[in-house]
Amino acid sequence: MSITGEPSFRESVDMMFKRATALMDLSPGLEEKIRVCNSTYTVRFGVRLRGKIETFVGYRSVHSEHMEPVKGGIRFALGVNQDEVEALAALMTYKCALVETPFGGSKGGLCVDPRQWDEHELEQITRRFAYELIKRDLIHPAQNVPAPDMGTGEREMAWIADQYARMNTTDINAKACVTGKPPHAGGIQGRVEATGRGVQYALREFFRYPEDSAAARLTGDLDGKRIIVQGLGNVGYHAAKFLSEEDGAKVIAVIERDGAIIDEKGINIEELRQHMNCNSGLLAGYIKGRHVEDGAAVLEMECDILIPAAMEGVINLTNAARIKAPLIIEAANGPVTFGADEILRKKGTLIIPDMYANAGGVTVSYFEWVKNLSHIRFGRMQRRAEEARSRLLVEEFERLSADQGLGWTMAADFKEKFLQGSDELALVRSGLDDTMRTAYQAMREVWHGRTDVNDLRVAAYIVAIDRVAKTYRSKGL
Ligand code: NAD
Repeated sequence: MSITGEPSFRESVDMMFKRATALMDLSPGLEEKIRVCNSTYTVRFGVRLRGKIETFVGYRSVHSEHMEPVKGGIRFALGVNQDEVEALAALMTYKCALVETPFGGSKGGLCVDPRQWDEHELEQITRRFAYELIKRDLIHPAQNVPAPDMGTGEREMAWIADQYARMNTTDINAKACVTGKPPHAGGIQGRVEATGRGVQYALREFFRYPEDSAAARLTGDLDGKRIIVQGLGNVGYHAAKFLSEEDGAKVIAVIERDGAIIDEKGINIEELRQHMNCNSGLLAGYIKGRHVEDGAAVLEMECDILIPAAMEGVINLTNAARIKAPLIIEAANGPVTFGADEILRKKGTLIIPDMYANAGGVTVSYFEWVKNLSHIRFGRMQRRAEEARSRLLVEEFERLSADQGLGWTMAADFKEKFLQGSDELALVRSGLDDTMRTAYQAMREVWHGRTDVNDLRVAAYIVAIDRVAKTYRSKGL
């Protein structure tokens, strides 16, 4: 039970799963096989820091090995526990199936507050945790591939990759043991922004269907939509930045640990983030906009789109009835509890579920893993060939125009864009956009195509569980 008297995060995920399987024709044995978490490894290890031995507790949970490697982030936070990593590992199984990345689901976590330790100390802690997992093949290019999550990023992934390489000196695929690495250490362009970028692509796709946005009592596209974001970390910052800078949306409030900034005119996300970077991650002291201390109350403010991008369980039985946003996109994992989900559905709130909304991260992680295994950057072979073909076409067009005395010329900026071959970043964004659109259409087909399915979450679960079940069946289970 959680502090709000609700089921735990893992129980909440299980209940959402069962809401979907009640509408499916799975044998009870297979239903249980898919739902339960295969294994969770708990490790307690000591690191000598500041003159004494500190003991840390970490977890790596493997939910489903119907496909290998299994995949899922590593979270650094004080509240990490077995229930949480198992819930997150289960969500990874369904997420990977929904966006067709060929992985099973896993998740890891370490009980540590990264802000309490300096960089050198954190490196020692991360390397020691990685050592414990690598020893047991819980980090391995073919078996278990972690990625960043709350409290971790490129830096930690680079330490993990290096630790694996030190322990596996002849593994030619060593770099594929973890994703989310910085580009200079085998990472891929566009991974840091990927989850937030995926949220943007998901919303763009949603607003392409007027009947879908009408279900959330919204019209038009993203232009002018009023958005509230909770959590200006990796996911929230990128989503808010792209939606406000590229789609004309207005971020009217940002909620963080120390309250919220509100500005109906629209917040400059880049400026606010710069302020937080220079101010120990705090909003306080930001002068453009109003600072309020009660961040939780801001979740309940009127807006068009609410983007919870911080952590699980923030919309629960205590506040769900007061949430006014007609559309919630779950950028974080599990921000809406099972009980809150029921209240919101009854109120007519439309929820774009986490397993789809934040799948951009694992999608680009998949691209990074493929890049590491193929040992070549995307676009390296074809970029200049593509440019040469485009140039041929432009030159022929210009020759014909001159020959015929038509005097047609191409606008300089069109010509420049047309002549550009796709580099790695362009290819990654294109692959991500395609993935988000395809997955949305699969969910949408179930949502609109079945009379017994009334929301996108159940639709997402049905698509995902059906795919996992097919894999199990093809293995003879
Ligand atoms: P992060 O650590 O970079 O950012 C989290 C932000 O939320 C921080 O700025 C933190 O100060 C803020 N925050 C924490 N508790 C808060 C609270 N109670 N109220 C308001 N703000 C709070 O983490 P992230 O990587 O952006 O992950 C955020 C969520 O997105 C998590 O649920 C994570 O599982 C999910 N997610 C992340 C990725 C990824 O690629 N990083 C991928 C998929 C899903």
